[in-house]
Amino acid sequence: MADIKLIKLTEQLIDIPSVSFSEGRIADFIFEFLSECSHLKVQRIGNCIIAENIVDGREATVCLAGHIDTVPPNNNDKSHYSDQKLYGLGATDMKGGIAVMLKLAVNLVKPHFNLKFIFYPCEEVDNKHNGLRQLYEADLNYLSCDSAILLEPTNGIIEAGCQGVVKLKILVKGKRSHSARPWMGLNAIHRSYKVIQGIADFKEMRPIVDSLEFRETFQAVLVSGGIATNVVPDESVITASYRFAPNKNSDEAVEYIKNYLGLFIESSLGDKIEVLDVSDAAYPGISNPILNRIVSITKEVRPKLGWTDVAFFSKLNVPAINFGPGDSSLAHSEDEYVTDVQLCNVYDSLFKSLEN
Ligand SMILES: [Zn+2]
Repeated sequence: MADIKLIKLTEQLIDIPSVSFSEGRIADFIFEFLSECSHLKVQRIGNCIIAENIVDGREATVCLAGHIDTVPPNNNDKSHYSDQKLYGLGATDMKGGIAVMLKLAVNLVKPHFNLKFIFYPCEEVDNKHNGLRQLYEADLNYLSCDSAILLEPTNGIIEAGCQGVVKLKILVKGKRSHSARPWMGLNAIHRSYKVIQGIADFKEMRPIVDSLEFRETFQAVLVSGGIATNVVPDESVITASYRFAPNKNSDEAVEYIKNYLGLFIESSLGDKIEVLDVSDAAYPGISNPILNRIVSITKEVRPKLGWTDVAFFSKLNVPAINFGPGDSSLAHSEDEYVTDVQLCNVYDSLFKSLEN
């Protein structure tokens, strides 16, 4: 295959529409692109493509993974260049990363490790559709490896592990009455003040995990309540999001935050805490010898403040990092872009880390 120009390949990928649930064409493209390489074993499971390079004498396997879907277009479905920047839907998140993966898959013919490249759909929608989750649930062998790199945009800086999330609903109860006679009722909206204040006063913790400083936060994100303008409300609901560091597992995080909220609710009045959703945190694992090879080349490492798909690998006890081209703060924006320099830097670092 002729020398692959990363920026050209990213442009080609942007021009194949692949909004979540419509990844068929881009999966076809990736499958055909990689099937030309005799050193790769390529398989397709739905719109997931897995390409493996098993090299004689290598024991450890490194997995590189990236999602092939995008959010819906926002006047940016066609790529264009301006001022050395390639604009277009998914330029940052994450067709640039997919282009880097494709070039690595083609050029690392005899790498230092066995390599597995996973291209998967439906990351930008509800987590239950996530292609990596589908693979994880179908057969653990699909994701099995010794360390993993997710090429989500990180500005070419290693972002290790990820935070976990607990989403909770806090039901604050009261008693209905006419608003002209509030002494006959109990105002649930007024009572919810104490819970909101408690969440606002949550003292941010900064635990050090694997030598990286994470930040734990707790935020009220939705509030509802009230019946009518002449009724004292009997219920108010606060939805809150607790982001925890990987020094806690999910059960510990749930218990911790429920105990904290317990200080501000009154069970005797019927107040309740309901856990809506829990996502695991992922241990950074940068001391893992394979990931350490990448760290020693890129130098800069920070903790991932947010949740990413590295958590799927963590479930399998596989250390994983986020490392990809493009500025993550541009993801999902109308003017997302990626540059050739960003693409080449990530490609070069990974090539050097993985080559023999
Ligand atoms: Zn993404």
